[in-house]
Amino acid sequence: MQTTTQSPVKINEQKAVEEFMQYVEKRNPHETEFLQAVHEVAASVLPYIQDYPHYVQHRVLHRMVEPERVVMFRVPWVNDKGEVQVNRGYRIEMNSAIGPYKGGLRFHPSVNLSVLKFLAFEQVFKNSLTTLPMGGGKGGADFDPKGKSDGEVMRFCQSFMTELQRHIGPDTDVPAGDIGVGSREIGFLYGQYKKIRNEFTGVLTGKGMEYGGSYMRPEATGFGSVYFTHEMLLTRGESIKDKKCIISGSGNVAQYTAKKIMELGGKVLTVSDSGGFVYDKDGMDEEKWNYLMDLKNVKRGRIYEYAEQFGLDYYAGKTPWGVSAELAFPSATQNELNEKHAKTLCKNGLQAVSEGANMPCTPEAIEIFQHSKVLYGPGKASNAGGVAVSGLEMSQNSLRLSWSGEEVDEKLRSIMRSIHDNCVAYGKEKDGVDYVKGANIAGFVKVADAMLAQGIV
Ligand code: NDP
Repeated sequence: MQTTTQSPVKINEQKAVEEFMQYVEKRNPHETEFLQAVHEVAASVLPYIQDYPHYVQHRVLHRMVEPERVVMFRVPWVNDKGEVQVNRGYRIEMNSAIGPYKGGLRFHPSVNLSVLKFLAFEQVFKNSLTTLPMGGGKGGADFDPKGKSDGEVMRFCQSFMTELQRHIGPDTDVPAGDIGVGSREIGFLYGQYKKIRNEFTGVLTGKGMEYGGSYMRPEATGFGSVYFTHEMLLTRGESIKDKKCIISGSGNVAQYTAKKIMELGGKVLTVSDSGGFVYDKDGMDEEKWNYLMDLKNVKRGRIYEYAEQFGLDYYAGKTPWGVSAELAFPSATQNELNEKHAKTLCKNGLQAVSEGANMPCTPEAIEIFQHSKVLYGPGKASNAGGVAVSGLEMSQNSLRLSWSGEEVDEKLRSIMRSIHDNCVAYGKEKDGVDYVKGANIAGFVKVADAMLAQGIV
């Protein structure tokens, strides 16, 4: 039953969201992550479009939740023992209204259709927010690079690309990295694409500097997440300097989030991996950061080894959300921060959350942050720096030139600022900014208008 405090308009809006979700659930049963991502967008966008009937009439949101194309394929390969292995590969081409499909590839055992559809759906809005001409897509495989030799990873990547190359191209679909796909994997994937197609083009981003990569692409997501936090804090006259910060993950995003926080005078208290987290009461410094980079990117070791090296506290099987801090940067994976964690964080004086990962906070956690007036930056805004610099890599590849690191960093800062401004423009409320609403509506409007202009296709 509705409470009496709700206005009739609110009740209609709620009904519109419920009916829409029933429709989406019926068509995509059991796809929990995808439904979670769609619900968050629908709850922002449906109330907004009640005032713009052309979006409703043309069923724009109904069309947006249906991928333009889904490709699923067999990825057979041979391990070092000579045994045949079979994985499943995917590419979700979600929306190309404002540019070629763009979004990363994830290699992780948890990859399935629901996870990739949620990531592809989020990517559509994120890419729209960057102001660059990129549609949304995502792909990957249920392959686990952990514990595999370089030879095994190479053979897997070659088999994966042997099929994927039919579906991608520099003006069609341009994948990048994500969990389990870093510079090593991008190199192997690019080599195979080039061999089969006999083309040297910007078909992937996140490439090495020697073969068409962009300065600042490795740094972009983490740096961008911190720049976004800086912008959010500015609205309250605050800064990152001297703030206690907790980070989850220790991969690409976490590494460069830590680096930028240190540069701006913040204190990095934690990093983690799927085994547990490390607590460093004195904060990370340059020596520890260099060790972490080598451990994770070269030796491919575990985070407990980092704790052992520097005599830090290690908490096996635990997440860092119990550590008292002003800023939180969830940068590992989806749904890693729940309601209980959010309550603890708020009790411990949290001021801001910036999602480095995609959808790391559960809907219940987000509600608590918003209710507690914590500045909450949703991933589609706060971690958009990675795909923004991927967009800049595509431009440099097309122009066949390379911008300096300083130039790219300046463009990244300005893109993160304009994403923040856009969130404020669409999400301003009486007592602050609703960044979720702002990001969802701002991302939606550009794609929706392009879809309307292009007719029913
Ligand atoms: P990496 O593979 O480099 O690192 C992932 C990190 O997260 C590792 O420390 C990993 O630990 C941890 N992790 C992964 N899965 C789990 C899990 N189920 N439980 C606990 N920890 C886990 O990936 P990235 O840093 O590139 O990506 C991290 C997040 O950021 C993802 O959500 C990704 O979608 C998002 N993102 C990445 C972008 C990029 O440019 N790379 C751009 C925008 C968003 P372990 O090694 O033990 O698995």
